[in-house]
Amino acid sequence: MEKTKKILISGASISGLTLAYWLIEYGFEVTVVEKNQGLRLGGQNIDVKGPAWEIVQRMGLDRKVVAATTTEVGIRFVNTRNKTVAEFPKDNALSMTQEIEILRGDLVELLYESVEDKVEFLFGNHITKVSETSSMIEVSFQHGEKAGYSLLLIAEGIGSHTRQLVFGKSINFKYLGLYSAYLTIKKVKSDSRWARWCNTERGIVFLIRPDNHGKTRACVFFRSPERGYEKLSIEQQKKFLIDKIKSVGWESDRIAKEIETAEDLYLERVSQVKAKSWYQGRVAITGDAAYCATPISGKGTDAAIAGAYILAGELAIAESYEQAFFNYEALMRPYINKIQKRPPGVPDLVYPTSKFGVAILNTLFSIVASPPAKFITSLFGKNKSKPRKEIDLKDYSKIIRN
Ligand SMILES: Cc1cc2nc3c(=O)[nH]c(=O)nc-3n(C[C@H](O)[C@H](O)[C@H](O)COP(=O)(O)OP(=O)(O)OC[C@H]3O[C@@H](n4cnc5c(N)ncnc54)[C@H](O)[C@@H]3O)c2cc1C
Repeated sequence: MEKTKKILISGASISGLTLAYWLIEYGFEVTVVEKNQGLRLGGQNIDVKGPAWEIVQRMGLDRKVVAATTTEVGIRFVNTRNKTVAEFPKDNALSMTQEIEILRGDLVELLYESVEDKVEFLFGNHITKVSETSSMIEVSFQHGEKAGYSLLLIAEGIGSHTRQLVFGKSINFKYLGLYSAYLTIKKVKSDSRWARWCNTERGIVFLIRPDNHGKTRACVFFRSPERGYEKLSIEQQKKFLIDKIKSVGWESDRIAKEIETAEDLYLERVSQVKAKSWYQGRVAITGDAAYCATPISGKGTDAAIAGAYILAGELAIAESYEQAFFNYEALMRPYINKIQKRPPGVPDLVYPTSKFGVAILNTLFSIVASPPAKFITSLFGKNKSKPRKEIDLKDYSKIIRN
């Protein structure tokens, strides 16, 4: 494809910034529009592994990513009296803690730093209208300006508005019966380098994790029918969450108090995005906007980074954008179909709503973490199993050179 083409990316997070990096690398001219006034840096740890790790290495960011890890040593499942019922250190095959755990915000910042002086950024703005002519895509921005681009790539996350403008009803959501809320809280004595997971009886789960900035990251999961809580204003979300978790046990009141003053509260439904197609005309979608697998899958970041890498690479080597979009989808679909398969027991077993369900779950955790079971899983420990490639990543730079 012609390299002087102007490309507009909407969304400056993991997928949008990875896309920007590779498109610049291949000689495109890139503008990124981000609705927020600055980068959105909230959230807990995300793990960088599999395809994401391979790509981060190709971007030369691996050492910076390693230096920014949260230093989490493993996860403890605790009861509401804070007694550990099971613990899984980082090297246990069943541990949620992976080799490379980095705060989502730290990764976003690293990606931003890698492109900030090569890309035009439009913060605090967003697209309100999209129309396509035979030679370009025309967009109107909220601040009133209009501009034309060769292509529009949407990386706006699960709740993407521009995707709905372009793709409308062809986007489906599979709601998993859960909401998640993330926020940064003050570090207290009971916080250590272990993550702590506590199931309370009303289908409310707390997950507290260490960060590398002297703070603690909290997550609240709660079971609920789909109610649109993510669309409430931040103040309404705070009030709703405080009422929801107050006095449910464990450290609920500590977290409720922190929600009052939180500056980075992020509430979202846990929902998969199922799109019939990831492109239409001169527009393509990527990351959570196209194929959110949910935080439960543990693969959202892998998919966001891999999708961005493949989309940029195919645009660089294909004869036309139509061919590139087609190849991007053909290469990514099988991987996404695999990672969107839900792990067994989620959410019913892992997020129980009754006292009995919590007791069963804690017993199961303690059996799995018992010495005989630990021995068996150690045979399949993370370091011992030979990593299998989940998706083949072409070396686009090499293809271009040859
Ligand atoms: C604040 C926040 C906290 C998160 N915390 C966690 C976490 O702790 N654990 C976890 O597993 N996942 C978390 N996620 C989701 C995680 O980032 C994604 O699952 C994954 O990394 C894929 O990233 P993405 O770039 O596709 O989407 P996202 O990371 O969701 O980013 C989308 C970006 O697009 C911007 N945007 C949205 N609408 C518009 C618009 N109309 N115009 C322009 N820009 C727009 C958003 O402000 C955001 O910067 C969080 C997401 C956000 C936004």
